[in-house]
Parts: sequence; structure tokens; C-alpha cells
Amino acid sequence: MTSLDNLPVAVIGAGPVGLAAAAHLIRRGLPVKVYEAGATVAANVRDWGHVRLFSPWEYNTDAEARALLRSHGWQEPPGEAMPTGADLYEAYLNPLAATPEMAAAIETGAKVTAITRRGADKVLSKGRETRAFVLAVSDGNGAIRRDLARAVIDASGTWTAPNPLGAGGILAEGEAEYAGHIAYGIPDVLGRDRAAYEGRTTLVVGAGHSAANVLLDLARLAERNPATSIVWATRGENLMRVYGGGRADQLPARGELGSNLKALVDSGRVTLVAGLSVVRVRAVGGQVVVEGETAQGTREVGPIDRIVAATGQRPDLNLTRELRLDLDSWLESSKALGPLIDPNLHSCGSVPPHGHRELAHPEPGFYTVGIKSYGRAPTFLMLTGYEQVRSVVAAIAGDLAAADDIHLVLPETGVCSTNLPADAATASSGCCGGPAPAEVDACCAADAEAKAEGKSGCGCGPMDMPDRKVSEKIAELACCC
Ligand SMILES: Cc1cc2nc3c(=O)[nH]c(=O)nc-3n(C[C@H](O)[C@H](O)[C@H](O)COP(=O)(O)OP(=O)(O)OC[C@H]3O[C@@H](n4cnc5c(N)ncnc54)[C@H](O)[C@@H]3O)c2cc1C
Repeated sequence: MTSLDNLPVAVIGAGPVGLAAAAHLIRRGLPVKVYEAGATVAANVRDWGHVRLFSPWEYNTDAEARALLRSHGWQEPPGEAMPTGADLYEAYLNPLAATPEMAAAIETGAKVTAITRRGADKVLSKGRETRAFVLAVSDGNGAIRRDLARAVIDASGTWTAPNPLGAGGILAEGEAEYAGHIAYGIPDVLGRDRAAYEGRTTLVVGAGHSAANVLLDLARLAERNPATSIVWATRGENLMRVYGGGRADQLPARGELGSNLKALVDSGRVTLVAGLSVVRVRAVGGQVVVEGETAQGTREVGPIDRIVAATGQRPDLNLTRELRLDLDSWLESSKALGPLIDPNLHSCGSVPPHGHRELAHPEPGFYTVGIKSYGRAPTFLMLTGYEQVRSVVAAIAGDLAAADDIHLVLPETGVCSTNLPADAATASSGCCGGPAPAEVDACCAADAEAKAEGKSGCGCGPMDMPDRKVSEKIAELACCC
């Protein structure tokens, strides 16, 4: 059998985090092979290239990648400027991938469709860690080859596995049948997809930053063509997560996105249907009607021309079916990360720094990193991913001192909990990173309530969640203390 030491470390996905992993591997002199499904690197980032990031350049690049780029005369963008996804690709990711060291390691148009261990399915234990990984790699034209690797870093993201419209996480009735009316993610309604939205009625479903971006773009389109109308449906009634922390957010652009959206709703330019769980899509003439359940009973929205499902993404677990993974049972994130990023508890982007130990699985040599490591949780920041791969690569290189020396300071969001008051107007001052709301002597309403009952509150001590084991240490570091 091939000695593992002669094999490369496989990195799946050439997004920001996969490319950073490759830069760290190259710096440590480890052989690396990067597989990218898209025709170019960063295919997912390019898909949402029209969207402006909420974090400025200073938070968007990896230290090792910067060092490599500088050695080839790279001009660093100004730290405080806010790039779009397209800028991130043009000014950072593409030049990084084009450096001779990286270019030699990257293969585009190469989709990894399955991973296993040589001669061992998931059940076989004997000598597992001594067997190479086998990656099935598709070239998109029907040919599949098998490559070997000593370790695998899965940085394949979640962007191409959107959650469905159906509020229960499965396709709504009619969702597949009327797929021609539905776009997932963040369509470019002011650019490449404009013709489909201009002068039409669009329903946006979802309550995250993706929904906010689409709604704001649609409102701009409506300014140019007033026949464009916009309806927004959210499953929850509490919009604090998307309205955000406003000026209390340490990433001002993220705070502004939420404030602008709130202003749009308040002005009546967007019709809000809060508390709607979508169950069905059906046709009416050339349009569609969306049916959902609300606390008051069944409700119909429409007829409408287009639906944008901005309902988040989930990891593709088929890829790793033959590996022994330990996942959080509801987020499908790496298990150790689950309690830190559970959106039932936190909406902060601020999680405790973590590295190879939290990202490892029972499968030796396999790590999930980047936004995929967060599973279905929506709060991932690139900076988190860069520290993840620094630690993971150090561990693969056998440098445990560096791998365990985790250091990361993240900007915090101005909102800490989904349990904030339902009336968004009363909650414009957030908690994490910002002043406590005037009316409570604590960082958020849930925290205040918990403290009043003599318990510790949100993120400030062990949570009162029977199914969750949150260690004291994690709780101390978590969200909004
Ligand atoms: C609209 C939007 C705005 C965001 N703004 C910010 C921000 O301002 N600041 C911030 O810190 N974070 C932001 N994020 C969150 C996050 O940092 C980004 O999503 C980031 O791109 C995640 O990087 P990644 O490398 O983990 O995954 P991705 O960027 O998704 O990259 C994954 C790569 O893997 C490839 N791939 C997928 N499957 C396979 C396969 N089977 N085989 C081979 N290749 C595969 C894909 O083509 C892709 O290139 C934003 C996210 C979105 C969606």
C-alpha cells in the first residue's frame, strides 16, 4: 500500500477557507491538492458576487494567504473598504489562486462526489487510520476517477444545498412542480436576473441577511419601476435577528442592512407577513399562490410571479456518508461547535475561538472547516474559518503546540438572542458589543428573565437547556457576556 506520507492533503473546495487551508499547507511544505467543483475558484462567492459583504477587507483575508500574495507583489485593498463578493474574488481569491505555488495545487472543474478509506467502508475498524482516503472525483462530463490522500479538509461550503421553502425543512407541496417560479439564495435582481423581477410581484421567504439583501435590492428595482411589488414572509414573528443591532453592531454594514430593512417595512414599501409557515405552492393562471399556516389559521399570499427562497443552506452529508463523523444532532455542524452556535440560543457572530480539536471527527485525519463546519447555523465569519484552518493544518503537520494555540478576536454583533422582545422597535439597542437595553439590567431580555429567576442567563452561564451540555467554559465565552 502507498505510504500515507507520500500522499497529498486533499482540500475540498477553493472558497476563501479552502484556499487559506492550501496556503497554510504550502507554507508548511506539505503536499496539497485542492479540488474545486466550479469552473473557477470561489464559485460560490462568485454566485453571490453582486452582494456587498458586511465585513471590511481587514476581516476578509487570511494571514498566510496575504504573505504568499505579498511575496508576488500583491497590492492589499484598503482595510476599511467593504468589498462585494465579486471584489473578493477579483482582488484576493483569484490572485491568490493564480500564484504559482497555489496554481500548481488547484484543479477546477473537479467535483468530489464521495470520500471513503481505501478498502474500508464505514463499519470496518481494523487499521482504519493507516489507510489512505479515497476521493471519487467527477470531471462533470461523466468521468469519475479515484484519488488518494493522507488527510482530508472539507471546505466545500453549503451554498449549493439550499433549505427548501417548506417550513418543516422538506419541500413544500408544489415546490418542485412550480420550481420555475422559485429562486434559491440571492438572485441578482438589479443585474443578471433583472428581467425576471422588474415590474413583477415577488415574495421573499426567510429572515436572514440573504433575505435582507434581496428585499433591499428589490426595493431599489421598485424605485426604477414602480410596477415592481414586494412581499416578505417570515416563519417567526420576532424579526430581531435580521433587524439586528443597528449601530451597536461592531460590523456597521451588517447593522445597517437590518436598519434599512426595518425602515423599508415601516414605510410600507414591503408588505410583511410574519409568522407564516409555508406548506404549499399552487398555480393561479400564470402566477402562483403560497399557502401557509399561521397562529390564526391558514393564510394565502399572492398571486405572485416570483418566489425567492432565502431560507438558508444545509451541509451536503452524502459526500461523507462512508466516513465516521460526529455531528451536532440538529445543526449538522461539527459536534463540539453545536452548543456554541445554536441559533436557538445565539445570533451572535462571536463564538469562542476553536481549532482542530473541535473540528476533528472520529475519522482520523478528516476535518470539516469553513461555513460547512457550522452546519445549518447562519453565523459563520471568514475570520473564524481562517483560524480553523491554521489550527487544523498545524495539527496535520504534527505541530500540536501551534495547533492548540488558538487566538481569534471576532467583531461582535449587536444582538445576542432570538428571545429578544418581539417588538423590534423596542429592541434597537442590542447586547453583544453594544449597550444593554435601558429597560433591563442585562444583555438581553432572556438573560434578564433568567437572572430574575435566579438562574444564569443567555450566554452568561450554563444555559437552562435540558438537551444541551454547555460547559462552564463555553458558556463564559459565549455570546453576550
Ligand atoms: C451573501 C453572503 C454574504 C456573506 N458576507 C460575509 C461577510 O461579510 N463576512 C464574512 O466573514 N462572512 C460572510 N459570509 C459567510 C461566509 O464567510 C462565506 O459564505 C464564505 O464564502 C464561506 O467560505 P467557505 O470557503 O467556507 O465556503 P464557500 O465560499 O461556499 O466555498 C466552498 C467552495 O467549495 C466548492 N465545492 C462545493 N462542493 C464541492 C465538491 N463536492 N467538490 C469540490 N468543490 C466543491 C464550491 O464550488 C466553492 O468554491 C457571507 C455569506 C454569504 C452567502
